[in-house]
Amino acid sequence: MRYKTLAVSVIVAVIMAAPAIAADDTYDVVIVNGRVMDPESGLDAVRNVGLRAGKVATLSTEAIRGRRTIDAKGLVVAPGFIDLHEHGQKPENYEFQAHDGVTTSLELEAGTADVAGWYAEREGKSLINFGVSAGHIPTRMKVMKDSGTWLPTGDAAHRAATHAELAQIDQRIEAGLKQGALAVGMGINYTAAATRGEVFGVFGVAARYGAPVHVHLRYAGDEPPQTARVALEEVLAAAGETKAPLHVVHVSSMGLRDTPQLLAMLRDARARGTDVTTECYPYVAGSTGLESALFDPGWQKRMRISYGDLQWVKTGERLTAESFERYRKEGGQVVIFMIPENVVRLAVADPMVMIASDGMPASGASVHPRGQGTFSRVLGQYVREEKALDLMTALRKMTLMPAQRLEQRAPAFKTKGRIKLGADADITVFDANRVIDAATFEKPLQYSEGIRFVLVKGVAVVSDGTLVKGVFPGGAARAPVVE
Ligand SMILES: [Zn+2]
Repeated sequence: MRYKTLAVSVIVAVIMAAPAIAADDTYDVVIVNGRVMDPESGLDAVRNVGLRAGKVATLSTEAIRGRRTIDAKGLVVAPGFIDLHEHGQKPENYEFQAHDGVTTSLELEAGTADVAGWYAEREGKSLINFGVSAGHIPTRMKVMKDSGTWLPTGDAAHRAATHAELAQIDQRIEAGLKQGALAVGMGINYTAAATRGEVFGVFGVAARYGAPVHVHLRYAGDEPPQTARVALEEVLAAAGETKAPLHVVHVSSMGLRDTPQLLAMLRDARARGTDVTTECYPYVAGSTGLESALFDPGWQKRMRISYGDLQWVKTGERLTAESFERYRKEGGQVVIFMIPENVVRLAVADPMVMIASDGMPASGASVHPRGQGTFSRVLGQYVREEKALDLMTALRKMTLMPAQRLEQRAPAFKTKGRIKLGADADITVFDANRVIDAATFEKPLQYSEGIRFVLVKGVAVVSDGTLVKGVFPGGAARAPVVE
């Protein structure tokens, strides 16, 4: 009580001491008349939002004024979407993502072998916020001198590491964490020769820095003995033993028909106190490099698909036994039609599963549409049209939950993924009656519709549904750097 009285008098004194500042009731930007939805507090009501110096400075039912006014009548005002999994980290990807409501785009699965350089490349030049993990895949490629361009094709995929190499891999991942990597990324399926011991070693490094390990599991599907369930046991054991937080990426493209069983295992592990989370994208196809270890002999049986289920991204053609061999030597992306629709829907609707795009660099005639349309697709198709989940739950899965996944490692995320006083002014304003993805497997490079305004640190990057040119408010989403 005493404290409150004191606080009130301080505020009164401050206001009285500065009566000449006319801007006291004026904000940089005000977003008025919108339906503000905040998954953390549960707020779902019409409010006027005042932004100042890149932060939310007021949430009010009173009229407020600002240098710029955005009328959000009839629109939802939500925290900007946080994408934990986006491989395309170039300006053109950021433009597509902004149109899909994303304000923070993170490459946490593959990651990088040069964390400091990765951030430096984007600083001051980015439309939206960006961040990266210390990647086991690229680090293993560097240490084992693999000549693959993105994913390993040589020793990093197919040879066990020596003791000296293991020590170097761990050391370089640790260096990346010291440089502020948000997480450790692993794609065990792509580094198939990495032993359980190597995996546990990497988890051990992550644990020392409180960094979550974002893992593409060792196996997909339900063909014994190499099943997704066996692969999940491996990383749950590593997380249990080392106490590193675990994040299983794209659960539906790993589990395939067995996804309900994977989700049950994850729920059990969480109930036992393991810090484990997961994500999915809302599509019936995956996408990766044809040259990668995923397509080592036996892939048809493992994924229960054949050549015709593979679409070559450069041309959009479906593959045959002959073109498969030819293109595998050449190397390049394929889209893989392998996930049953009922599995997609189940994962998208599950309140435990976050939404993340797994978007790819926006090149090729038929690149996977997920990088361009994931978030609008969930809001339009699964929330509005199919009613598979409610709007607040969907927003929670794309804002608050990803922020919470990272906030222990990177405290900057405590003010992201929410709309509250002091939160970062990363805000997405959309029309819940119209929002929908436009990117398809045939025409993937199309902006989503119904995302009206997107602000990054209070600066509009999408205004009235149109990209704002020449602004670069995006900043590094990074863990503290350790000297
Ligand atoms: Zn993956």
